[in-house]
Amino acid sequence: MKLESNTPPGPLAQKWDRHRAEIKLVNPANKRKYEVIVVGSGLAGASAAASLAELGYRVKCFCFQDSPRRAHSIAAQGGINAAKNYQNDGDSVYRLFYDTIKGGDFRAREANVYRLAQVSVNIIDPCVAQGVPFAREYGGTLANRSFGGAQVSRTFYARGQTGQQLLLGAYQALSRQIGAGTVKMYPRTEMLELVVADGAARGIVTRDLVSGKIEAHSAHAVILATGGYGNTYNLSTYARGSNATAIWRAHRKGALFANPCFTQIHPTCIPVSGDYQSKLTLMSESLRNDGRVWVPKRKEDCARPPASIAEEDRDYYLERLYPSFGNLAPRDISSRAAKRVCDEGRGVGPSGLGVYLDFSDAIGRLGHRVVEERYGNLFDIYKEITGENAYDAPMRIYPAIHYTMGGLWVDYNLMSNLPGLFVAGEANFSDHGANRLGASALMQGLADGYFVLPYTVGGYLATQKPGATLPADHPEFRKAIEDVGDRTRRLLSVNGSRTADAFHKDLGKLLWEKCGMARTHEGLTAALKAIPALREEFWRDIRVPGTGEELNQALERAGRIADYFELAELICLDALTREESCGGHFREEFQTGEGEALRDDERFAFVSAWEFKGLNGSGRWDLHKEPLVYEEVHMSQRSYK
Ligand SMILES: Cc1cc2nc3c(=O)[nH]c(=O)nc-3n(C[C@H](O)[C@H](O)[C@H](O)COP(=O)(O)OP(=O)(O)OC[C@H]3O[C@@H](n4cnc5c(N)ncnc54)[C@H](O)[C@@H]3O)c2cc1C
Repeated sequence: MKLESNTPPGPLAQKWDRHRAEIKLVNPANKRKYEVIVVGSGLAGASAAASLAELGYRVKCFCFQDSPRRAHSIAAQGGINAAKNYQNDGDSVYRLFYDTIKGGDFRAREANVYRLAQVSVNIIDPCVAQGVPFAREYGGTLANRSFGGAQVSRTFYARGQTGQQLLLGAYQALSRQIGAGTVKMYPRTEMLELVVADGAARGIVTRDLVSGKIEAHSAHAVILATGGYGNTYNLSTYARGSNATAIWRAHRKGALFANPCFTQIHPTCIPVSGDYQSKLTLMSESLRNDGRVWVPKRKEDCARPPASIAEEDRDYYLERLYPSFGNLAPRDISSRAAKRVCDEGRGVGPSGLGVYLDFSDAIGRLGHRVVEERYGNLFDIYKEITGENAYDAPMRIYPAIHYTMGGLWVDYNLMSNLPGLFVAGEANFSDHGANRLGASALMQGLADGYFVLPYTVGGYLATQKPGATLPADHPEFRKAIEDVGDRTRRLLSVNGSRTADAFHKDLGKLLWEKCGMARTHEGLTAALKAIPALREEFWRDIRVPGTGEELNQALERAGRIADYFELAELICLDALTREESCGGHFREEFQTGEGEALRDDERFAFVSAWEFKGLNGSGRWDLHKEPLVYEEVHMSQRSYK
């Protein structure tokens, strides 16, 4: 298989404009003759569905929540980047592009990242017009703050609720189309199969989560905007419902999975507090604008109350190690630094796996009211979970799984290797390389949905015959429906002794230990033995109560966890074969003398794109490589010192 990125020719800064000018168009009267399925109603899915419907296509949009408004995007806290340069502090499209490429440790496709930076400039104004209440300066202009890996302030925000406000905006745009009859919305409906006929994506099979009804939906193109797969690790900052089933089912049908081991570990989360926990909570990176990260210099001081530790006995290790970026060093680097000080025995809190995030300086400098205005809801969340008041004593934080840079492989048009299957937002792999910078996921989701797919999906549809789609009794649809039914019956019939959640806990622990913040050949090899064994046990001993013809959340979870068992194996395989460290992928064998990630550009400057070849005890995959060719930037050793 030859991977074709379809990156347009010409100078980097002109590629997108030229491509847009040359892309095939569908005549307005023909647009209503095309059906498009959008799976997902988060920022990427809602914006894509609304934009395509506004253009005149007939759209069906699916989500598993009871309302599109409850997509996981609603959890996003800190902000959204855009190279508007409102602060006049030296920002530009090129600087956002370069920061993103460097932040991703030179493992992203250059042309996609440039386009993202270009398009970012267009996102903010329509969101303001939708009514998104971005923070403003006293004089009324939009305010900005900084996020990791940048030395400018380019992050637009609505307190600590930016995702919620942006999603309400996208939801309004979507609702307008639902009202106009151009989008048919299917809430509480889960896609369980992709239908591929003659090599192209032709539809999906879904299960109504309330009645259990299994249905086929046919279309000229399918867009997956189904979010990330970080919940494979069980404990993460994701909404508990976020899952990998849509992309995994598509992968099993031939869509390549790119860079699965590129998972992001966020340094600023509330530490794990016990074995009963089902999720972790993020304390937004925005807090590092004003909060200072430290641990005691001496192990013996770790148990003392923080206020009693003198200034000279504190180690503000990010400011010490990375003076030019300080507390805003990127996530991968800050997470590893936190792990290192905790491994040295200098961690704080009951588990010893915690570092302080301290606002006393900021409160002294700005006053309690300003700190509350900027971050009040985050302090409230912290108090609700820990019972501690972070205005009086420092927060305790520790790294946790937060985002996945890997995802289904897409070309420049965001189309997978299966014609007609597009992938947007966190579900694709395209823009963040081996480490995503803060506030860039919302930017990417909305760029994909509002500004890229409306062109590129049209370009694909222009090559397809308008009118009838594949009939629902086509053999590929019948087979997909049968497969969904068989799998559901199989899960229900094992009648074993353990819940899906219990298996998920075991899998998550294994993945975190062997393929979390630090990875080794030995650990990954062991994980690759243990995961298939655990998977077999899952299929022997899983217990799913109830039936398939009713609301059955145990059944939903079991199906998703069954998919995690396969994906987890691929994550470890990818991590084992990538014999270098880059971004969030840290192989202990490959590090600099100072403990930083050591890339191997000679051997690994490529995207790993995995083709599913079947499962027989262990999984089998073929590896395809898309070389990363940089025309504009020079690959260099990343430094934030
Ligand atoms: C706590 C937290 C805070 C964050 N803060 C920020 C931030 O400040 N700035 C930033 O840039 N990024 C942030 N992120 C990351 C960002 O929120 C996500 O990457 C982004 O919102 C993902 O959007 P999405 O549209 O791709 O997917 P999602 O919002 O996850 O939406 C997925 C959609 O797909 C649907 N779906 C999934 N599977 C199926 C299926 N099988 N069948 C039917 N429907 C399905 C779901 O119902 C949902 O509608 C944060 C992440 C977390 C966890």
